[in-house]
Amino acid sequence: MLSGTPVVAGVAYAPVMWPGPRPELPGPGEPPADVEAECDRFAAATVIVADRLRVRASAGTGVASEVLSATAALAEDRGWVGAAQKLIRAGSPAPNAAVDATEQFAAVFTKLGGLMAERVTDLMDVRDRVLAELAGDPEPGLAQPTSEVILFADDLAPADTSGLDPSMVRGLATRFGGPTSHTAIIARQLGIPCVVAVADLTAVPAGTPVMLDGTAGTVTLGCDADDARAQVAESLRQSELVSRWTGPGRTADGVEVSILANVQDGASARTATDFPVAGIGLFRTELAFLDRAAEPTVAEQTTLYREVVDAFASDSGAHTAKVVIRTLDAGSDKPLLFADQGTEANPALGVRGLRIAFADPGLLDRQLDAIALAAQATGGSPWVMAPMVATAAEARGFAAKVRERGLTAGVMIEIPSAALLAPAILAEVDFVSIGTNDLTQYTMAADRMSSELAGLTDPWQPAVLTLIDRVASSGAQVGKSVGVCGEAAADPLLSCVLVGMGVTSLSSAPAAAAGVGAALADVTLAQCQAAARAALATADPAAARLAAAEALHA
Ligand code: PEP
Ligand code: MG
Repeated sequence: MLSGTPVVAGVAYAPVMWPGPRPELPGPGEPPADVEAECDRFAAATVIVADRLRVRASAGTGVASEVLSATAALAEDRGWVGAAQKLIRAGSPAPNAAVDATEQFAAVFTKLGGLMAERVTDLMDVRDRVLAELAGDPEPGLAQPTSEVILFADDLAPADTSGLDPSMVRGLATRFGGPTSHTAIIARQLGIPCVVAVADLTAVPAGTPVMLDGTAGTVTLGCDADDARAQVAESLRQSELVSRWTGPGRTADGVEVSILANVQDGASARTATDFPVAGIGLFRTELAFLDRAAEPTVAEQTTLYREVVDAFASDSGAHTAKVVIRTLDAGSDKPLLFADQGTEANPALGVRGLRIAFADPGLLDRQLDAIALAAQATGGSPWVMAPMVATAAEARGFAAKVRERGLTAGVMIEIPSAALLAPAILAEVDFVSIGTNDLTQYTMAADRMSSELAGLTDPWQPAVLTLIDRVASSGAQVGKSVGVCGEAAADPLLSCVLVGMGVTSLSSAPAAAAGVGAALADVTLAQCQAAARAALATADPAAARLAAAEALHA
């Protein structure tokens, strides 16, 4: 059994297909006789490649189409084309220049890390397409399978993934890539069970029947065909349940769990109402202001917060749905121009989130004033929480400001110190919400954007589960609500474990709500508790997933 990072749930059983080889890289060549003509030949190839990608983009829809348009833009990127032409003018033939310019850019992308690093695969795909075009060869890429397959690859380029036919490609596994790679994004859109970052994938030859489990993050070889088909059938039964689930969130024995949405502005809040969610568990206010050079006025902020609070008002205008607003989490991966901290050696550990208010309390005060005004104007009572809280004193200070304005105060638990101090922090606030994305990053000392570290930035890491358990049981002891609003709350199996630990609400991308709700509706609280105990008793994420799944369905 091979393990990786699960990205799209579901089980598939079929023979492996590997994509065909990429174009061969050119050996050393003679300097071109006419460098300007060679520059033109190169530029013409990039235009053809970009045009073909754009044609595919316009034939596709949604994320797949956006991703293809972005790749087309990469093919014509002035910096990349310019770098290659500079090499041609220095004596490189066009194919060699394409390879060397790509290497330069890939090094820069890799150094930038995060999302940029994940775009290296796209750049390599553009390079290969340009090489094929220069050589007069057909476009490289995937052949369309004629029978059901599980597609294995190092990583898939957008142009490959966008043309995938889910009725033939039943599962996807890649050696590289993280949960935000294009393979993952497109697999999610197409609903193809997917596991990324699977080491040792290359050891499995084409044609080998394998079972891929996108929930557990495993690829199993040599399994019994009947057993595998039974598991596929069970996974299809689950997806039926998911498509029929309409809420509200509760376990099979009636324990209520709020299933909520993460939003970032009025429009996304209104879109969330199309999904079976009971309200908003995390409004990331900073995301609404990423393009703002100056701090929005209190009046502007009030308008925005009113829009979000109003999105979940009932037809009669009553505001009974839960709405949790998070104060600005600026800094690190979400820099805001008007709350800029200058260059920090280590921004993820720097002045971000609530810490910005230490030196500039006015920013927080004005935001809280705007939230209070929005509450008054709508008649709603949003809960307000602070990000990146490390100590009980910080929680106390924040809660005082929130309560002065007549609002309900909470904090996020996303720093290990806050999880360890959960009882002391819970004593200061009305509720907490666990940000598992950052809690995992800081517990494992692994950048959440790094695809290389995807195995560590996994909320199933038992160390992370142990901290969550501590927070959830501390909340249960004092009868205060403990939510989870990181990506962990989008994982149906993990959601059952979280509820078993005592978590009372789960908030994530609204598209995940039905999967989570249906999983909870299928099990009792006692089963969730058994799954939590089983996961907590393990020493690695793969074992935790397996143990939880077994305990849940025992
Ligand atoms: C988290 O860290 O889990 C979280 C929900 O906050 P963000 O992803 O916005 O940092
Ligand atoms: Mg966070």
